[in-house]
Amino acid sequence: MTETPLVTLEGVGKTFGKQLLVQSRSFALSDVNLVVNRGEVVGILGESGSGKSTVANIITRLASYTAGTYRYDGRDVAGFAKSDAFGFKARVQIVFQDPFGSLNPRATVGASIMEGLALHKPELTKAQRQTRAAQLLEEVGLPADCSDRYPHEFSGGQRQRIAIARAIAVEPELLVCDEPLSSLDVSIQAQVLELFVKLIRERDLTIIFISHDVNVVRLICDRVYVMNQGRIVEEGTARDVLTNPQNEYTARLLAAVY
Ligand code: ADP
Ligand code: MG
Repeated sequence: MTETPLVTLEGVGKTFGKQLLVQSRSFALSDVNLVVNRGEVVGILGESGSGKSTVANIITRLASYTAGTYRYDGRDVAGFAKSDAFGFKARVQIVFQDPFGSLNPRATVGASIMEGLALHKPELTKAQRQTRAAQLLEEVGLPADCSDRYPHEFSGGQRQRIAIARAIAVEPELLVCDEPLSSLDVSIQAQVLELFVKLIRERDLTIIFISHDVNVVRLICDRVYVMNQGRIVEEGTARDVLTNPQNEYTARLLAAVY
C-alpha cells in the first residue's frame, strides 16, 4: 500500500489581477502538478519570477489559488474547518529568504521561538518552553544563552538560524524553505546549508527546498521540479534531472552553472 502524500497539487493555477478582463490577466501559475511524499526532500528550481514563491505560499496557505486542487495529507485544504487550519499551522512551517523580514525586531529571540510553542504546545510550562528554546538555539548552532537578545544583534546567517529554530520549534512535519540561503553572503551560505543537511539527517522532516542554485538542489534534494514562467517544465530525481535534463530550459539553467 502506498502512503498518502503530504502535498498534492493538481492543476493548481493562480492569476493576479482582474479575473474578468482576459487581456489584463497576468498568469502567475498554470497547471501545477506536484507531489511531496513524507520524508522526501523535494527541490523547486527556477529563475527569478518563475513562480516558486507563489507555489511556496500556496502550499503553506499564505496565499490562495484560483484553479485546481490542493490536498494536504489526503484532505482538500479548501474544505478545512477552523480546527484543521489551526493544526495545519503547526504541521507546516516556512523559512523565508530574508530572515530579518520574518523575525519581529521588537521580540527577543527566545520570545520569537517560544511564540509558536505557547500556541501549539500549551501543555508545556513557561520553564519548559524556555528550556526548549535554549535547546533549539543550540541545535541550530547558536549559544543557548542568547535568548534574551534581539534580531539586530545577530549577523544575517545567525538570523536565518534563529528563523529556522523558530520554524522547527513546533515540530512541523513539512518545512518549506523559500530560497533560505539567497540573502546570505556566499561565505555563509555553505554553513547554513550544512545546518539543513544536519536537520534532514537528524529530524523527521519532509522538506520543500526552493532554490535557483543547481548545486544546492543537487546536494540535498531527492527529487526536483523545474519551473519556468509559472509552469513545471520538468520533474524527476535530482540526479536524473540535473545530469540528463530532458527539457531545454533545464539544460540552459545547468549550462549557466558550468
Ligand atoms: P519566484 O519566487 O520564482 O521569483 P514569484 O512566485 O515570486 O516567483 O512570482 C511569479 C510571478 O508572479 C511573477 O511574474 C510575479 O511578477 C508575479 N507575482 C507574484 N506576486 C504577485 C502579486 N502579489 N501581484 C501580482 N503579480 C505577482
Ligand atoms: Mg521567490
